[in-house]
Amino acid sequence: MKFFLPDSQDLVDPSFDFERERRSTTRQRQHDDLYAHEVFSTPTIDGLLVSKGIVDGFGATGSRYTQSQRLRLLRHGAPRFFRLERAPNALKLMGDCGAFTYVHEEEPPYSVDEVLEFYENCRFDHGVSLDHVILEFNPGADIPGGKNIIDASIRARQKLTLERAKEFLRKHKAGRYSFEPLGVAQGWSPKSYASAVKSLQKMGYDYIAIGGMVPLKSREILMCLEEIQTVRNPATRLHLLGVTRTEHLREFARLGVASFDSTSPLRQAFKDDRDNYYTNGLKYTALRIPQIEGNSLLQRKILSGQIPQERARKMERACLEAMKLFEAGKHTVRQVVEVLLEYERLCDREQKKDHAGAYEKTLTDAPWRNCPCDVCKELKYHVIIFRGAERNRRRGFHNIWTFYQQLRNLGLEATNTRQETERPTHQWRSRANG
Ligand SMILES: [Zn+2]
Repeated sequence: MKFFLPDSQDLVDPSFDFERERRSTTRQRQHDDLYAHEVFSTPTIDGLLVSKGIVDGFGATGSRYTQSQRLRLLRHGAPRFFRLERAPNALKLMGDCGAFTYVHEEEPPYSVDEVLEFYENCRFDHGVSLDHVILEFNPGADIPGGKNIIDASIRARQKLTLERAKEFLRKHKAGRYSFEPLGVAQGWSPKSYASAVKSLQKMGYDYIAIGGMVPLKSREILMCLEEIQTVRNPATRLHLLGVTRTEHLREFARLGVASFDSTSPLRQAFKDDRDNYYTNGLKYTALRIPQIEGNSLLQRKILSGQIPQERARKMERACLEAMKLFEAGKHTVRQVVEVLLEYERLCDREQKKDHAGAYEKTLTDAPWRNCPCDVCKELKYHVIIFRGAERNRRRGFHNIWTFYQQLRNLGLEATNTRQETERPTHQWRSRANG
């Protein structure tokens, strides 16, 4: 089973100095910064998912790309733009439309021709047909007589998605495009997903992406896959678009899932309340040491007099120092937790969350000391500190790497059709730690 990481221009700055918290003044974003696949000397993903909606920046979403980055991507193609030659394994590139960026529109803002051109210009290996995401999920619609509980506008989205898939495949053949086409199945219930898959197979697709999975619970995803299984041709491979729950990989594989994409391992590092740092068995809570500089919420509280500025600065420094002493064996778990919680109470007086138990567990186990990944080896205890994009994103990269090892350990490679060739490793160094 292949794991694709959706691209959202998440890079880290190798010049970042973790002790002084400064970066090189000559650093050029994207040019000097590193993607997850450039940071590790061993494989961490199978490929990247690049969305047209993210590259173009549709509507209020805005683009994660600057104008010049967008032009470079289209001029040089994605393999060169993402510097795939620096990854330790051969990576695949999948393109999709990024239907979430235009979910509120009546119709997708792109034509099938524009999408085909985009995929071909970017030199993707796989391209997903133009779709319109359905966010409604109601299994009740599968009960006899239940079809009418689904609004006509929702059903129209599925119809539109299937019509575009048909046009996409026809034009793909006529234009002799080099990437492999995937049809998208959208639905609102297990049976409606199965019906979409059936239609796509009839058109000639044997690689089908299942859309609209992002808000679904694992149980609901499995319900849909079980129903799809009743109509799926043995040769049809499935791709799950945007899975946030990844604890059922074995069952996914049994039900024909050949690939999926997920940002969960990355996002959990700094979006989740507790599960910020992955290990082979447990997930740990990262230690919050908020930055006073550049933190608008803290700045507002300081300006309004809620937080005394000098005391906050002193506590922030004390927390960083306590972590340094802990790593050197000169501070106990209890001493560090005390300082961290004192700073936390100062920053947020009304807070109801108590991190004491979680912090004690993190510090007692000190999981970064046992992690063989390149990030933890370089960063040491800084990886567990919840603070600023450079630390948080590197912890996300560590999670991606750990997740990928777990995926490989499940032994689900049977669905991989060919052996990937090893590439020379790229050594990653950061100034502060190398
Ligand atoms: Zn690690």
